[in-house]
Amino acid sequence: MAVSTGSLSVRQFFSRNGALARAHPNYEYRSGQLEMAQAVEAALKEKRHLIVEAGTGTGKTLAYLVPALLSGKRVVISTGTKNLQEQLFFKDIPFLEQFFPDGIRACYMKGRNNYLCRQKLYDAEREPVLTGLEEVADYQIIRTWEATTESGDRSSIAGLPEGSTAWAKMDARRERCTGQKCRQFDRCFLTLMHQRAQESDLIVVNHALFFADLAVKDGDFSGIIPDYSAVIFDEAHEIEEAASHHFGLTVSSHQVEELRTDILALARRKEFKTGELERILDALLDHADRFFQLFGDVEGRSGFNEHRTFLERQDEKYLQFINALELLSTQLQLIKGAPDELVPLHRRARDIEEALRFWVEGGDRSFVYWVERRGRGCFLQATPIDVSPVLRQKLFDEIPAVVLTSATLAVEGKFDYARRRFGLEHPRELIVPSHFDYPKQSLLYVPQHLPDVRSPAFPAAAAHEIGKILEHSRGRAFVLFTSYQQMRQVYDRVSGQLDYPTLLQGAAPSRALLDQFRSTPHCVLFATSSFWQGVDVQGDQLSCVIIDKLPFAVPSDPVVDARVRAIQEDGGNPFYEFQVPEAAIALKQGFGRLIRGKTDRGVLVLLDNRITKQRYGQVFFDSLPDYGFTMNIEDVERFFDAT
Ligand code: SF4
Repeated sequence: MAVSTGSLSVRQFFSRNGALARAHPNYEYRSGQLEMAQAVEAALKEKRHLIVEAGTGTGKTLAYLVPALLSGKRVVISTGTKNLQEQLFFKDIPFLEQFFPDGIRACYMKGRNNYLCRQKLYDAEREPVLTGLEEVADYQIIRTWEATTESGDRSSIAGLPEGSTAWAKMDARRERCTGQKCRQFDRCFLTLMHQRAQESDLIVVNHALFFADLAVKDGDFSGIIPDYSAVIFDEAHEIEEAASHHFGLTVSSHQVEELRTDILALARRKEFKTGELERILDALLDHADRFFQLFGDVEGRSGFNEHRTFLERQDEKYLQFINALELLSTQLQLIKGAPDELVPLHRRARDIEEALRFWVEGGDRSFVYWVERRGRGCFLQATPIDVSPVLRQKLFDEIPAVVLTSATLAVEGKFDYARRRFGLEHPRELIVPSHFDYPKQSLLYVPQHLPDVRSPAFPAAAAHEIGKILEHSRGRAFVLFTSYQQMRQVYDRVSGQLDYPTLLQGAAPSRALLDQFRSTPHCVLFATSSFWQGVDVQGDQLSCVIIDKLPFAVPSDPVVDARVRAIQEDGGNPFYEFQVPEAAIALKQGFGRLIRGKTDRGVLVLLDNRITKQRYGQVFFDSLPDYGFTMNIEDVERFFDAT
């Protein structure tokens, strides 16, 4: 039976005998949840910004969904991951439907490449765009699914391989869309998604889509998310990275290759291929190749500051590349009776040219310019050094109420760091402690006898210590590393000596590894960044989380380096104002994998004893939950024996 919310306030909803408790006798009252819900309710009503750290287990999802639904306003919820986005839409919102007898008008929106382009699917039936038997098989799966799917979202296709190249040829990305000129426009899954969004009070997006939208919402250009009164960011500790990406730009060798391939394919299909067009495209590829070769072939990321010297020395290659792009644009304009599909391709050529000029000339000093070599690809990137001005201007000054929440936003119990990084002035602030009994449920062990993590002796000593700890925990552990190389080194030393099954990140897709971990008794997973956050394993199966080092960002990374230098130039102390707080939040995320429920128990291990030996270590301790603490492995043994 539906429980009427009538004119309920969140207090009546979450209180001890409130609607939630009455509907679910097993529901456990949590004062922190009520407190957070009331803070969100007030922020939405009074049009104020709010920042909330809500420890694990406080029930923060309902604490923002319910006030958002009761507000009577259109609210956007933005999550860091698609996983959380799907959990909200397919689990939490349906759960709340019983309290809203008039129904909940909600929808989710993902990035365009998650949706099928119907026109491309139909084109593929007539035109030879598929190569190989696998693509033909994938095409059949997609074709059958298209006849019945309502959303067009690829996550609802059963049996389509994760990296399907057929899907990549048929997704609805902007670069290939003819928009309103398309014959399928009215039935297009994106059009339907926009219509649903227009009719929804709650729109669930992810940060990537939110910031992609915010970046194009400018002047006359409207974004894809309809107007809203408030936005709530969950996993808000990730917004700086998402904003940096979407307010920056990239020019890559792949973009040029794909543009050439797409133009040639269209020219073949629509029969406007000429020798002249082919020659121009070949010359473009040739000039692009020569230009990108100027940046070497060493894998990884490196900063680029020598714009003037580069232009002086490589002016010719740069101009040849630019001229080839200009020539292509002119040629595309000259095609008689050009099909509509050419419009987005033409736009792509101009976008590449514009981004290339911006990057090479490097005139905007608020950006850091850098180069990344990945496999065969060369990526020229420009990233804002400080996203706080753009966030202030486009987000906090524009949207009446912005709520930022996460289990990891505060450092030493304060929000100074998050406020500074996000450009958030005078928000209301709230810290809701976790609902768990950390001193009883968990023990943090920091071995003192290990060498400094920077010493060459560290990997062998760490591997030995990990082996001992895993004996006590009987496997059931995540061993998390700050670098891939360190993970491999330690894995090679430890895995052969363990009596427990082991998994290594990279051996299979992350989701498959996680499923395997959950279903394999006493399993040990060795992993890097993708398992530091957003991973939830409740119960005994995960009883120990071991972290090798304090997770400082790599100082030689060009973006980190530029941010450090910018703080120095402003007279600040980048170590204490940026590097330590950022690492403290990352450590809190990593350790947050362990205790996911009230009955979970387990041991956290930090093999980096700088936390106890260096003065800055106190910042980490003051930022972590109140775990039990020891420097003796005997306590670890006793802890597990008592389990
Ligand atoms: S409108 Fe764009 S994305 Fe939609 S079907 Fe047409 S071309 Fe594809």
